[in-house]
Order: sequence, then structure tokens, then C-alpha cells
Amino acid sequence: MDCIFCKIIEGSIPSKKVFENEHVVAFHDIQPAAPVHILLIPKKHIATMNDVTDADDTLMAELFRAARHVAAELGVAESGYRLVNNCNSDGGQIVYHLHIHLLGGEKLKGLG
Ligand code: C5P
Repeated sequence: MDCIFCKIIEGSIPSKKVFENEHVVAFHDIQPAAPVHILLIPKKHIATMNDVTDADDTLMAELFRAARHVAAELGVAESGYRLVNNCNSDGGQIVYHLHIHLLGGEKLKGLG
């Protein structure tokens, strides 16, 4: 499959991983938008948030569990952070393998 994040998971494209377990990988975004910018991805190839099904409930819980763990490990849990998913064109999605951005390390601008 021609998916850049699947290649990061299998290791054929390098990444700076900060977390990995059976279901989830987290690594530094190559174009950080904040001092801390981590991408959390399921190992299962799911293209967008729209493609998540009820069968993925446990996987989604694993993804958010990993986000909490990484936030704590990187020292931003107490100061705070933002989790973002971009879905499809209007959402600004560029890579069509489900991912959550974890942003922190500074006071982030409001969304409004
Ligand atoms: O949510 P969206 O699809 O727009 O974000 C994709 C993200 O993947 C971008 O922030 C980009 O910098 C990141 N990326 C990466 N490593 C790659 C390719 C893309 O961290 N090899």
C-alpha cells in the first residue's frame, strides 16, 4: 500500500518515534507547528475519521490512552496540550492514514 504512515510503521521511512505498542505508534511531526508536535497513528490503516467503525472502539481508546501517556512523558500534561484530527479536504487532511496531532509546549492560540 502506498501510504507514507504505513511505511513509517513498518520502518521503511524513518521517524523519531516516542511511543509504540501493539496497536499504536507516536512520532515527532517533521514540520512541527508547536514546540511539542507528535502524531499518534493506529497501526491499522484507516484512511480518515469517517472510516472508523464500531469495531475500532478499542483501538480508538488505545489511541487516546497513548496520547495521555505521551503528553505525560513529554512533560506537557500539566501545562496542557491540544489533540487535533484533520478530516478530508476541508479539514486540511494531507496524509490519508488516520492520525491525531498532539500539540503543546506553548500557549496555543484559541480556535475562535
Ligand atoms: O493532518 P494532516 O494530514 O494535514 O497532517 C499530516 C502531517 O504529517 C503534517 O503535519 C506533516 O508534517 C506530517 N508528516 C510527517 N512525516 C512525514 C509526512 C508527513 O510528520 N513523513
